Amino acid sequence: MAEDADVIVVGGGLAGLVAATEIADAGKRVIVVDQEGEQSLGGQAFWSFGGLFLVDSPEQRRLGINDCYDLALQDWMGTAGFDRDDDHWPKRWAEAYVAFAAGEKRGWLRAMGHRIFPVVGWAERGGYDAMGHGNSVPRFHVTWGTGPGIVEPFERRAREAQKNGRLTFRFRHRVDTLVMTNGTVEGVAGAVLEPDSVERGKSSSRKAIGDFTLRAQAVIVASGGIGGNHDMVRQNWPKRLGEPPKFMISGVPEHVDGRMIGITEAAGARLINRDRMWHYVEGIRNWNPIWPRHGIRILPGPSSMWFDATGKRLPAPLFPGSDTLGQLHYIMSTGYDYSWFILTQNIIKKEFALSGSEQNPDLTGKSWRMTLKRATNKGAPAPVEAFKQNGADFIVRGNLADLVSAMNALSGDNLLKFDHIKAQIEARDREMSNPYVKDAQVMNIHNARRYIGDKLIRTAAPHRILDPEQGPLIAVKLNILTRKTLGGFETDLDSRVFGTSREIIPGLYAAGEAAGFGGGGVHGYRSLEGTFLGGCLFSGRNAGRAAAKAAG
Ligand SMILES: Cc1cc2nc3c(=O)[nH]c(=O)nc-3n(C[C@H](O)[C@H](O)[C@H](O)COP(=O)(O)OP(=O)(O)OC[C@H]3O[C@@H](n4cnc5c(N)ncnc54)[C@H](O)[C@@H]3O)c2cc1C
Repeated sequence: MAEDADVIVVGGGLAGLVAATEIADAGKRVIVVDQEGEQSLGGQAFWSFGGLFLVDSPEQRRLGINDCYDLALQDWMGTAGFDRDDDHWPKRWAEAYVAFAAGEKRGWLRAMGHRIFPVVGWAERGGYDAMGHGNSVPRFHVTWGTGPGIVEPFERRAREAQKNGRLTFRFRHRVDTLVMTNGTVEGVAGAVLEPDSVERGKSSSRKAIGDFTLRAQAVIVASGGIGGNHDMVRQNWPKRLGEPPKFMISGVPEHVDGRMIGITEAAGARLINRDRMWHYVEGIRNWNPIWPRHGIRILPGPSSMWFDATGKRLPAPLFPGSDTLGQLHYIMSTGYDYSWFILTQNIIKKEFALSGSEQNPDLTGKSWRMTLKRATNKGAPAPVEAFKQNGADFIVRGNLADLVSAMNALSGDNLLKFDHIKAQIEARDREMSNPYVKDAQVMNIHNARRYIGDKLIRTAAPHRILDPEQGPLIAVKLNILTRKTLGGFETDLDSRVFGTSREIIPGLYAAGEAAGFGGGGVHGYRSLEGTFLGGCLFSGRNAGRAAAKAAG
């Protein structure tokens, strides 16, 4: 039967766009099929903060950060904790990906016009030993222009390929099945959805108005993860983290529905590590939501005090920004699915960043004038202030007694005792008189301020939480926010998908979040952050290049 293209890519997110542009640039014909409308091109990456994991970059060197492949690999392996037979390909992907991040990643992007904000962030700082979880050094490089800035070079390349006839988009085409003959994938079939001019990120109509079938020599599945589908998140919730949370908010649009995962699995693809996921514990309900249950993740600096639902301070080293999975594990062990930050106005002003392109108009809009205010401004950035004033999870009070009683009223659980909270904050505050201290979180603050980037824009000068001069006091109720799927389809380094019999399925490739960002779970159990967009770039590129080559 006649082919409609050399390769079909399912999904116009970052991984799909990267794969498709590589195919078109190799002189092959590619069709990108997406269930959403043209206005949603770029998928999740558009909404992202644009943070990228890079190793030994000029930006790091300028800030005096010594980094190298060996250190990054040590951190990656300590963080991933690979411990299964199924981790063979994920581990090989991890080695290759760290080499990419320490090698050609930055130059490849730069040649396409991508630029980086000069202050490198320090995410997932760990707090265990050198071989344990976390980044030994700052590595989170924010794209100048955030999410749209990482989509832009690939959208531009895709539009050029569209003009020269090598790339075709089929928007509002929802794939419902993979077309197979004798075990070889030969195309996709599904429903054409009715046109919908709904704004980017909002839920679109699912009404079908027709059918379609498209044929090609190969299909690349780049359909994203499951984070928008809370039923699937709960079904796959790992036993080691206890019962799934009763209440969760969504850090991704509804189109991250996981449907294509089941469809690809039904075609015989081997899905591994489905119990590994990366959800955040510092989620706040968006007062101005775009998608259903829309939540935003706070990217916290190190100074807020963190309490569980019963009012007990989280144990060391579970400080803000240290170990997301460790925090999730701890919080779920309390029997409640929320926790609290208590902080001051001076902490919120310097330390709160919100993940998402729309929450960072200065960086997204590439405005140096606005961005410089991060270092000099008297108040918090405007989007943070807006949350402080309008967010359902924020409480601002002039004294601790009022704060605690408002916290009890907000949760409705009445678990917090004023004396208990006060005693813990006062004990921590007494540690403020010396630069050498016993409290591990306070040590962590002093350590952070030795890094110039943190001192400039991410870590408040150490102060007593109960010092009225630093106030008012702020409490934030933190919810569990779904985001990334760490498991996925098992793939070799060419992004070719293995079947359940461990043989490659001819004609089938997977990339991006659907492939666990490479191999079926390049991250293992945890991430060093900024590794998801990078995983889409790397696995999308490998898939596109390999599929184009195989297309002969
Ligand atoms: C707010 C936010 C902030 C983030 N910040 C960062 C960050 O700073 N750094 C980082 O590394 N990562 C970040 N991420 C994560 C990162 O953006 C995503 O993991 C990544 O963009 C996923 O890309 P993808 O191409 O694999 O999938 P997606 O972007 O989900 O794209 C998949 C596409 O496939 C389509 N699709 C799905 N099923 C079908 C079907 N059956 N038929 C047709 N089409 C289908 C969908 O409509 C969608 O367009 C962030 C994510 C969010 C939401």
